[in-house]
Amino acid sequence: MSENNASIRTRFAPSPTGYIHVGNVRSALFPYLLAKQQGGKFVLRIEDTDRARFVEGATDMILDTLEWLGIDWDEGPRKGGDYGPYTQTERLDHYHAWAQKLIEKGYAYADPYTAEEVESFRDKAKAEKRAFLYRDHRPSNPPIWDGSQPLRFKVPVIKRYTWTDAVMGELSAGEEALDDFILIKSDGLPTYNFAHIIDDYEMGITHVIRGLEYIASIPKYLSLYDALEIEWPVIACLPHILAPDGKKKLGKRDGAKSVQEYKTDGYLPEAMLNFLASLGWNDGTEQEVFTKEELIDKFSLERVQRSGARFDEQRLIWLNGQHIRKLAVDDLFERVTDFWPAAATEASEQAKKQVLALVQDRLKTLRDLPLLTEYFFAEPTPEPTMITENKQLSKLGTDETLSLLSASRTALEASDYTPDDLQNTLNRLLETTEQKPGVLFSLIRLAVSWAPFSPALNDTLAVLGKETVTLRLTRAIEAIESRS
Ligand code: GLU
Repeated sequence: MSENNASIRTRFAPSPTGYIHVGNVRSALFPYLLAKQQGGKFVLRIEDTDRARFVEGATDMILDTLEWLGIDWDEGPRKGGDYGPYTQTERLDHYHAWAQKLIEKGYAYADPYTAEEVESFRDKAKAEKRAFLYRDHRPSNPPIWDGSQPLRFKVPVIKRYTWTDAVMGELSAGEEALDDFILIKSDGLPTYNFAHIIDDYEMGITHVIRGLEYIASIPKYLSLYDALEIEWPVIACLPHILAPDGKKKLGKRDGAKSVQEYKTDGYLPEAMLNFLASLGWNDGTEQEVFTKEELIDKFSLERVQRSGARFDEQRLIWLNGQHIRKLAVDDLFERVTDFWPAAATEASEQAKKQVLALVQDRLKTLRDLPLLTEYFFAEPTPEPTMITENKQLSKLGTDETLSLLSASRTALEASDYTPDDLQNTLNRLLETTEQKPGVLFSLIRLAVSWAPFSPALNDTLAVLGKETVTLRLTRAIEAIESRS
């Protein structure tokens, strides 16, 4: 089913019920990738008819998140388009017009029952050990629908449905999967079950891609398409996203954070997209790091797996590091604005970029920036215990440590502080002191940074500059002397 046509229209149809968690975003990404690849259109629709679950501000949060991720929609809120409005509560007249058509065809009826009556039907079915179905209780003389009662769909033909899900394959369900569901509630608003069918049709959606939780309802939707004489779109259900243990469905407790949180935690949108795409899809090769363009190029519904996809945050962290490395320093610089340590506030753009270039390969998230760079901008407090607690360095003893530091200070003072000359100076120091790099370089590194790790020593020293290095070595010597 590898179409290649620009008439493809896919959609993402979130409900504004709260923040958008990572699992939901995958339901936006896959249809987006498909539409972009085929030169089609990706539509965004807001499904806000469930007023009990409506959360003020959630729509904006969802739109901001999609914008940040770079999942750009062609039509929808903030964009407009020929098929609007794209928010369901602004489309009520459409649903009512279609409801009227169904009534005229005899495929919809006003539900006359009170909650108590329905309850008694349920109890009876239970006592008789059979499934409760509304269609067993179709009123023989339903009242004229005046909007005060729910409007129920009357399934025209009760039969077995067989269909092909573009991901899950050939499927079928028996008559028990069909029932008379509510089309319009007594508050005048349509149900999701009704509204999304109408909207998908009116908006020309060719591929309906969504989560697996909808799969059991598909026969109901098919029966409604048939009643409306609407052609079925391509239907695809995406596999569940599983918790890191690979057993249960991913829940908020398993780290299914909002995308916004990942942003503040220093993740790049590129890495998020790459990670989300890998939840249930691969291109059949060993490639793991994909740019958005590569995803668009390679994505196919056929390669979406049927089994659940494990949410492995460690992989996301790894991917984030990979994507950080790929950025030009100037680009990275733009993105880390909010992540610098306070000590860097006064530093020049040039100084920051120099530091950034040094630590870029070590950043797993942008949040690592302070830990990796603080000592470039502020005098660190010497902590001689970092030497005495270091397995290699503790063997040196105080006198040798001091003499190595002092020899280093003298030698480094004679360098012109280009990275090359620093490297030569350091190499000569290895010879004269007869030390291994693992000892001497670790010692100098600690004495100038008092940080657990730092980039290549010559580069670090070059960025710090002669004056700072000399001063820090002196401070280190003084701190060690005062302890002994
Ligand atoms: N409004 C539904 C939701 O947010 C969308 C389901 C669909 O994609 O059709 O879960």
